[in-house]
Amino acid sequence: MSFEELGLSENLLKAIKDCGYETPTPIQAGAIPHVLMARDVVGLAQTGTGKTASFTLPMIEILDGGRAKARMPRSLILSPTRELAAQIAENFEMYGKYTNLSMALLVGGVSMDEQIKKLDRGVDVLIATPGRLLDLFERGRILLTDIKILVIDEADRMLDMGFIPDIEKIVSKLSPMRQTLLFSATMPAAIKKLTEKFLSNPREVSVSAPASTAKNVEQFMIWTHKRAKDDELFALIEQENPGTAFIFCNRKRDIDGLCKALRARGYDAKALHGDMDQKSRTSTLEELRDGNVRFLVCSDVAGRGIDVDHITHVFNYDVPMNADDYVHRIGRTGRAGRKGRAFMLADKKYDEKFVAAIEEIIKKPVPVQEPLVQKNAKKTAAPEKSAKPANKNKKPRGKDRVQDEEIVGFGDDIPSFMK
Ligand code: AMP
Repeated sequence: MSFEELGLSENLLKAIKDCGYETPTPIQAGAIPHVLMARDVVGLAQTGTGKTASFTLPMIEILDGGRAKARMPRSLILSPTRELAAQIAENFEMYGKYTNLSMALLVGGVSMDEQIKKLDRGVDVLIATPGRLLDLFERGRILLTDIKILVIDEADRMLDMGFIPDIEKIVSKLSPMRQTLLFSATMPAAIKKLTEKFLSNPREVSVSAPASTAKNVEQFMIWTHKRAKDDELFALIEQENPGTAFIFCNRKRDIDGLCKALRARGYDAKALHGDMDQKSRTSTLEELRDGNVRFLVCSDVAGRGIDVDHITHVFNYDVPMNADDYVHRIGRTGRAGRKGRAFMLADKKYDEKFVAAIEEIIKKPVPVQEPLVQKNAKKTAAPEKSAKPANKNKKPRGKDRVQDEEIVGFGDDIPSFMK
């Protein structure tokens, strides 16, 4: 099937051509005709499948030609994270460049004044995270009654992040005559309930299970001890010599600690997590896109949906506690037809059940690789042992001191439910 056959008009076909897309992806071929027929759609697809264009393109087609009134947007795209919202906005700008549609991005962490000014001028497409949208609504800066199309993107992620009550509140302000599109990588019971409540007679379009999208990614797992993870990671980095890599951690303090430790070893590393202000998050992402960051140490929230093609490696410093996150994490590499490698450091004492959950959803075992550090440690065990007593009463200095502090830094910070 071609884009022409999907029923998109010249303005969009030209923009699609500029993007270099030749044929629609399965989610696009499946969803676009339904959206153009004004049907509600449930799209089961994860990032990397082309799902953003599957709702952005027909939305532009439907809205093109009309005009928004002040403070009354004509369509709303809800996204769980600022980064994802920003990426949707970028897509919208690319695909809508031959139209006169206006767009506003409403996310937390940036000044409201600019956003309010834009809303006052009238926007056709509003892309928002739930919190900031409700905030502006409650201040009376925005009216939601004119919204003709609602998109809820990454609904399962919204659920994980506790946004469902916010979504319910937002939807209750919308006209029941709207068209609703909901996208989710998985369909937990709570999301199914939400679709039954918010969508009317939806068409379901589903593309291959998330696990199969990682076919370009070679996966490995290393059983190690949590205290040995730093050394194992550094050894892996040396062995793999990655071009650009994501390093995922489960805890924010580990992100900062690891970033420092990498820099201390001369690596160019940046942190990305939800506690950072929007300005530094955006500039870090830009540096990553431009190829100026080699290691991005990040959390799941920050790492999700980031669409950068040149990531060669993903290192899971921690095993994710949510098996879906594993699929999302390793899906950062092996994109756009390239090969990627993903490594995961796991501790038998804490991680066995999480690894089992991952293997259940990817429907295969993650191949185990011998730890590099233990192998090397065996060779050097004797001199290290004999060196210790001599240093017993000395305060560690310089490099040794840094290493000592790192071990303390990655100490027993294990959530109680994992113990
Ligand atoms: P998404 O799943 O929306 O995050 O999209 C993943 C990537 O696929 C983005 O870089 C898009 O620009 C790209 N993409 C979307 N549709 C197509 C297409 N039909 N052909 C080639 N690339 C596409």
